[in-house]
Amino acid sequence: MTAHTENQPVKLPTLPLVDQELLDRAWAAAARQNAEYAPGERESLRARIKQLLQEQDAVLVAHYYTSDDLQQLAEETGGMVADSLEMARFGHEHPASTLIVAGVRFMGETAKILNPEKKVLMPDVEATCSLDLECPAELFTEFCDAHPDYTSVVYANTSAAVKARADWVVTSGIALPIIKYLASRDEKILWAPDRHLGSYVQRETGVEMLIWPGSCVVHEQFKAEGIRGLKKKYPYAQILVHPESPAEVIALADVVGSTTGLITATLNPAVQEFIVATEPGIFYKMRQASPGKTFLEAPSGGVGGSCESCQRCPWMAMNGLRSLVQVLESGAHEITIDEEIRQKSLIPIQRMMDFARNHQPVLKDSGNV
Ligand code: SF4
Repeated sequence: MTAHTENQPVKLPTLPLVDQELLDRAWAAAARQNAEYAPGERESLRARIKQLLQEQDAVLVAHYYTSDDLQQLAEETGGMVADSLEMARFGHEHPASTLIVAGVRFMGETAKILNPEKKVLMPDVEATCSLDLECPAELFTEFCDAHPDYTSVVYANTSAAVKARADWVVTSGIALPIIKYLASRDEKILWAPDRHLGSYVQRETGVEMLIWPGSCVVHEQFKAEGIRGLKKKYPYAQILVHPESPAEVIALADVVGSTTGLITATLNPAVQEFIVATEPGIFYKMRQASPGKTFLEAPSGGVGGSCESCQRCPWMAMNGLRSLVQVLESGAHEITIDEEIRQKSLIPIQRMMDFARNHQPVLKDSGNV
C-alpha cells in the first residue's frame, strides 16, 4: 500500500495479520465467559464481586462496549462506565488503591500510565484491539524514523510503547482540533493507526496526513447499503456513526461522533429512533440516557458483507463476570509497564489533556478510546 506526500509516493508498512484464526480464538474465550449461567449463578457472581471489590479496596471501571452486566455492576458499586481516558481519569481521582479495568489491553495500559501508584487489573489481559495489533511498536518506530520531519499523532487505541514514541495522543473526540492546531503551525503530520478515522480527520480539516493503514475489525464492517435499507424501513431514524467506520458509511451519518458524542446525540428530543454504527454494547448507556427510544444496530453483514455479527468486538466480549471473580480472587492479570516507557508515553497523553483543558468547552467529550 502506498500514500503520497508532497507528491512523493511513500511506502506504508505491511501490517501483521489480524486473521480469522485470531478472531476465532477471541470468540472462543468470549463464549466461555458468556456461556449460559446455571440457575442463581449470575446473582452469586455479582454478590461475590461486590464483596471482593470492597475487601480489596478496588473500583470497577468499564468501557461502553462491555456487557450490560459489567456496566451495571460498575455503576452499582461506585465505579464508572466511560471511554478509556475517562476511565483512567476517574481511576486517578477515586481513592481506591486497585483499579479493575473491564475493556481491552490498551485501556488497562492507559489507566496504569496515568495511575502508576495503583494496582491495575483486567479480567483478561489477552483482550486486545485490532488497531493496537496492527501497529506494533517496532514497525511504528521504523516508520517515524523514516519520516523525521513529521509530527506523529496516534490514536488512543495503541500500546504504551507506541504512545511512548509518539508526539501526540488523540481520541476521536479531540482529533479534529488538535490536527487543525498542528496544521496551523505548519507541522507535517503522520497519523496512526486507524485509516478510516485518519481519512475522516483529513476530509474534515483539509489537512493532508501520512496515514497508517490499520483499522477496527468492528467498525470497518459496517455497510452503507445495509444502512440505506434499514433507513427505508425507519425513515425518521437518525443515523449515528463512529468515525472508525468507512467513508461511505460516514457519508450517510446525521451525526458522526465518539462514543460519548453518540450517546449525547440520543438526547435530541426531536428524534425517537436511531440507527447506530458502533459496537452495540453502547446501547446500555444510550437506553439509560434516552429511555423509551429505539436503537437499531447498523447492518454490518449487508450486501457485500463478510460476516453476520461483526458489530460485536470479540475482545470486549472476553470480559465477563466469571473472569472478574477469578481476577479479584487471584490478583492475576495485573498490568505492568516498563517505567521508562510509562514516563515517555505519559508525555503525549499529558499534551492532549493540557490541550483539552485549554480548549473547553469544545472538548468535554474525550472519545472512544
Ligand atoms: S471495537 Fe474496534 S477499536 Fe474498539 S476495542 Fe474492539 S477492535 Fe478495538
